[in-house]
Amino acid sequence: MHSPMLWFHSGLSAGLKHDVFRRMDVKIIRSRRRKKTISAREVDGAIHLYLPIGLSREEESRYVQWAKKRFEAQRRKKELMENNTDEMLEKRARELNKRYFSGELSWVQICYTTEQNARTFGICNTTNKTIRISDRLLKMPKFVHDYVVVHELAHLKVPRHGPDFWKLVNGYPKTERARGYLMAIGMSD
Ligand SMILES: [Zn+2]
Repeated sequence: MHSPMLWFHSGLSAGLKHDVFRRMDVKIIRSRRRKKTISAREVDGAIHLYLPIGLSREEESRYVQWAKKRFEAQRRKKELMENNTDEMLEKRARELNKRYFSGELSWVQICYTTEQNARTFGICNTTNKTIRISDRLLKMPKFVHDYVVVHELAHLKVPRHGPDFWKLVNGYPKTERARGYLMAIGMSD
């Protein structure tokens, strides 16, 4: 009943058709000695997950999801740092500000985040003027990425999604197309 090792392959999450990130494999190592200890570590690009024996299939799969989420977010964070991605985002935001807002917007920080819930593409905090863009956007078409940046920038001026807001965002010509794209993959504002 308890095979000592079991590989969960990326196929498990194949239902997420639009999942744009490479999934990490999870190897479950079940141990009698680890009565209540659950731990995970990365070994050669895979996750080794140590679980006590006797967990139900559902419990195990919950731990697999937990481990994947944790390590994948970590890896993405590292990739973002190594590639100076936030600097490029800042630069792009300035270009879009110039082009669609006559350069009149200002913000304290704009950067990518790996932390957001899968449905959220960006958050603008109008109080401290910081913008967080989901790093998932990096793997999407540029017009979608730029739409999200424009959308969040527009919130600096108009916090709520009213007619004024959409009038501003519609200055970006591919707004409708980008919104359709995001809706189709289950990310929406
Ligand atoms: Zn919004």
